[in-house]
Amino acid sequence: MPDKENLRAEIPEYAYISLARRGMEKISLDQCFLKNCDNNDIKLLEPFKKEEYEDENKQIKEIYIRCKKCEGIFILKLETLKNVGKSTKDDDGDPISMGMVYSLDENKNNLGHIGYY
Ligand SMILES: [Zn+2]
Repeated sequence: MPDKENLRAEIPEYAYISLARRGMEKISLDQCFLKNCDNNDIKLLEPFKKEEYEDENKQIKEIYIRCKKCEGIFILKLETLKNVGKSTKDDDGDPISMGMVYSLDENKNNLGHIGYY
């Protein structure tokens, strides 16, 4: 049985959107990303399923979330780039951790790139 509180902990609290010259804007991921829904109440969002897989370059996590306001389901897709092309002379630097967040609808249609996390 998936533990729902653990699922919630897998979702980053914020994503960052880069604004060309004005730095980064922080947006909360505790909101419904479906069209025509303005729910941003975490109590009305219920993560209920997670899928995890990876390919050569990326680690991908998909968190399915049910919105209790519009009764819709959407998916937060978290892509983390693996630390592949790292140069050897930079060995003691921090591992590169760059993730991207997308929102998908229930049928995995891409609703858009949300930001970085
Ligand atoms: Zn909603």
